[in-house]
Amino acid sequence: MPQKILPKKILNIQQWFDPLKFAERNAAIQETIILDSLPRFQPLVTESGGKIELDWQFGLLKRHIVVTGRWSARIPMSCQRCLQTVWLDLQQESKLCLLRPEESEEYVPEGFEPIMLEGERIKLAQLLEDELLLALPVAPVHQQCPDNQYQPIAEPEADIPETEAKTNPFQILESLKKSH
Ligand SMILES: [Zn+2]
Repeated sequence: MPQKILPKKILNIQQWFDPLKFAERNAAIQETIILDSLPRFQPLVTESGGKIELDWQFGLLKRHIVVTGRWSARIPMSCQRCLQTVWLDLQQESKLCLLRPEESEEYVPEGFEPIMLEGERIKLAQLLEDELLLALPVAPVHQQCPDNQYQPIAEPEADIPETEAKTNPFQILESLKKSH
């Protein structure tokens, strides 16, 4: 079946959609998504302007909903060494198998990452957030930190200001990893 690219006006990443219908139509999503539109990223980023280039293709494989393709993202996070913004360039191939509540994980095609759906429908924002959060490094740092007032930090743990501690992304990451 030929690939069918969704017209832009349909794509609202906060809208619930039925991935089965996307898969049956072999729908593709090729879109630049602004990171600011993903609510779960707000505590993690240090400034706006981050974005994700998404190239996803929905399809059916042995009657399962699969998503294949890739994404790349530029994400502004706080460097854990100097506390200034470090722009992370991430990219990843996607091979996801979306399991509806009645489907069992044991039938996931080989090489695909199982994603349990809570119902028939899902938000694209939710799917993307899960993907990206799992791909984030545990402690983002510059390859070489620019000079600033915080350097050198002898004991980074003790020196992290309260605002940093409050937005600790790693607890979120840990809880995400446990749930997968
Ligand atoms: Zn740094």
